[in-house]
Amino acid sequence: MSAPTPLMQQYLGIKKKYPDMLLLFRMGDFYELFYEDAERAAELLNITLTRRGSSAGNSIPMAGVPFHAIGQYLARLIKLGESAAICEQIGASDGKGPMRREVTRVVTPGTLVEESMLSAQQSCVLMAISGDKERRGYAQLDLSTARLCAGECSTAEMASVIARIRPAEILLPESMPALAANGAIKRLPNWRFATEDCERLLVTHFGVRDLSGFGLNNQPLPIAAAGALLRYAKDVTKRPLADVEGLVRENETDFIGMTVATRNSLELTATLSGERAPTLLSVVNRCQTAMGSRLLSTLLHQPPRQRTTILARHDAIATLLEGGITTALQETLSSIADIERIAAGIALFSSRPRDLAALRATFVALPATAMQLRRGAEASVLLKKLSDSLSPPEAALNLLNTAITLEPAATTRDGGVIADGYSSELDELRRLQNGARGDLDTMAEAAREESGIAGLRVEFNKVHGFFIEIPKSQSARAPMAWQRRQTIKNAERFITPQLKKHEEKVLAADERARALEKRLYDDVLIALQPHVPAIRTLAAATAEADVVAGFANIAAQKKWHRPMMTDKTALCIVEGRHPVVEAQTSHFVGNDLRLGDETRLGIVTGPNMGGKSTYLRQTALIVILSHCGAFVPAASAEIGSINHIFTRIGAADDLAGGRSTFMVEMTEAAEITHNADTHSLVLLDEIGRGTSTYDGLALAWALAERLLLHNRALTLFATHYFELTQLPDECAGAINRHLSAREHGEEIVFLHRVEDGAASRSYGLQVARLAGVPQAVLARAQALLARFENTKPEMPLFSSASSISEPPTTPPHPVLEKLARIDPDTLSPRESQELLYALKQLLN
Ligand code: ADP
Repeated sequence: MSAPTPLMQQYLGIKKKYPDMLLLFRMGDFYELFYEDAERAAELLNITLTRRGSSAGNSIPMAGVPFHAIGQYLARLIKLGESAAICEQIGASDGKGPMRREVTRVVTPGTLVEESMLSAQQSCVLMAISGDKERRGYAQLDLSTARLCAGECSTAEMASVIARIRPAEILLPESMPALAANGAIKRLPNWRFATEDCERLLVTHFGVRDLSGFGLNNQPLPIAAAGALLRYAKDVTKRPLADVEGLVRENETDFIGMTVATRNSLELTATLSGERAPTLLSVVNRCQTAMGSRLLSTLLHQPPRQRTTILARHDAIATLLEGGITTALQETLSSIADIERIAAGIALFSSRPRDLAALRATFVALPATAMQLRRGAEASVLLKKLSDSLSPPEAALNLLNTAITLEPAATTRDGGVIADGYSSELDELRRLQNGARGDLDTMAEAAREESGIAGLRVEFNKVHGFFIEIPKSQSARAPMAWQRRQTIKNAERFITPQLKKHEEKVLAADERARALEKRLYDDVLIALQPHVPAIRTLAAATAEADVVAGFANIAAQKKWHRPMMTDKTALCIVEGRHPVVEAQTSHFVGNDLRLGDETRLGIVTGPNMGGKSTYLRQTALIVILSHCGAFVPAASAEIGSINHIFTRIGAADDLAGGRSTFMVEMTEAAEITHNADTHSLVLLDEIGRGTSTYDGLALAWALAERLLLHNRALTLFATHYFELTQLPDECAGAINRHLSAREHGEEIVFLHRVEDGAASRSYGLQVARLAGVPQAVLARAQALLARFENTKPEMPLFSSASSISEPPTTPPHPVLEKLARIDPDTLSPRESQELLYALKQLLN
């Protein structure tokens, strides 16, 4: 095998420094990838895999993307969780070796600030996790806001913390066990998490004596995570990240806790199938700015528990509504740019001229927003605070006004970014460019006179520079001193020494102006650095104002009401609605809920499709919205102090994870019974399915009892086990509620109204009819039903002595129950066999 060419030597030298990411190596108009990188990229990006240097049996796999399309390819790689190092050609070659090349930036999923690669609606968060056997430390950084937070939790809690933070990229020590998470996982050597080094790095970065000011004294785990994270972020961005000015100690108790399953099943920001709509976010989001949308999305995943924060938002919304301020406020907000990301771009020197123009326009627009907020300043502390913090930094605005043209070009390369009058040197060069061009007319005039050729013109093109052009018919009259350059169809072109000199002057001026403009622009970015924190403050205030205005908007439009936050462990909701289901139905039936000291457990029965699941979910959503500071979809609501929400809703199989439906269900039930307490809201939907009827019923009963008597959580328990409706007779603190339905002949009409007592029957056959089960089967089932009801089989379990006081019902036989629960879409062959078997047994 022959030795690598100098070019490949250069490549290999650079690649060595970036072993764990794709290296995009600029060669002319392409970024090329080699070896495994090429194979990987070819597969990920669906680009052609070729070979380079196929001579001497030394061929190298290669794949490339055109330089102008790099952004779009990078965005795709990042979405797939990949990281990439971009290696550019820097300056000319020395004549012998290849051109100089250098990695100018590294992009990773969690450290993006380029707007083109980011979702405007979602924050891009980098997370690091450290740990010992039992505990985990974690840190998170959003480069857009430069907010660095760190905290600690148990190993068991880690998954729900990750789900709360929703990182795009997670850094883990090599030795830590793998974890299931959505973000891209990056392994770092263990020593990068060494506490002492990390502490030193943080102390140096913040210029403090120790970390006690951040509440992080003697907390090795969060310190290790924060240190490793900050170091990685500095490496990747190749910046000192001086704008990361502090470290916030985060506590899980600051937020309403939710398990991963809870977040997913409530479809807060993504549907169960991963779509962005319809979700709570998609329905609630009335924000006018990207910053507001991101804050709202974050809020929904971490509803704060601190009452002052919540009440301040409620006050603000009430004030906006009472003062009729919302529309005007939202109008002013709609012209505000994403200054949070622009601030990050300035801090990382990646802002483009138009970002600065947008920043300036926002500075100009902010006073109007402040004015609207001020209209509510007397009644609302929050509105006052926000209006006070919306004055743009005068010096930065002046700088932008004097330095940047009104409508700058996209890049400094194109010129026309720096305003006239900002730099006398640039003005001079521009005068030269323009003035010199003006000279052309004079020159053309002189040449016309000299030659007597009337149709003479002085022209310029990129290939030939300046030249004199005359019609071919006149070519004999060209003076001797002119030098023939080119003959085209009907014309001859000449140059003169005078033109040549002129050309040099103009071209030099062009080039110098462009270089100067780039330098001046960079200086503007430097001069803006001290203003970055102030811009971030503006961004945060705008986002908050936007969220509150959006809440006010939806409250007004959808008739949401202010919840009363109480310190009791109770929920009292009148005519509550499910905001997402409501948005999809023409008429939504509001339902009441009362849980508290007297009744901690509600057993919810009713037919399939009756609205049980909706009722459970809306309760959680109302609690979440109220804590986010929003008004709620209810006629009125008293919301007590809820610290955790647990749900076990919907049978999402984890077959890929190797767990059956029942296993998933029981794992979640275990998690809930271990963790729920008196301040928890627990929502269980049809627990105990997927095993034999008696197993399932017994488990459901035991779980309900446990939650009521031991955990003492506020619980809603939707079930098809009618036997469970006897539980309230045996245990104080439980009640029956049911979703009503009416029969019209053979049809069923769902009323979707929650009423007291247990459901009288389950309408299984009617629902089966709606679902399209064949008439023959229904008729047969009807006949069987009549027969079973006559035989009145003994209740095998929990046949409590006390009679059911609610609507008189014949306890249906479990097999019938099962029949009623048939969902023809999901009935597995095994289930239908079981059912058949059970039916046969009965018939015998
Ligand atoms: P269940 O859990 O009892 O099977 P769901 O809660 O899934 O029933 O509700 C089934 C459908 O009924 C929903 O998709 C919705 O269209 C409708 N629905 C539920 N609750 C209501 C309500 N309160 N008002 C109007 N429609 C409702």
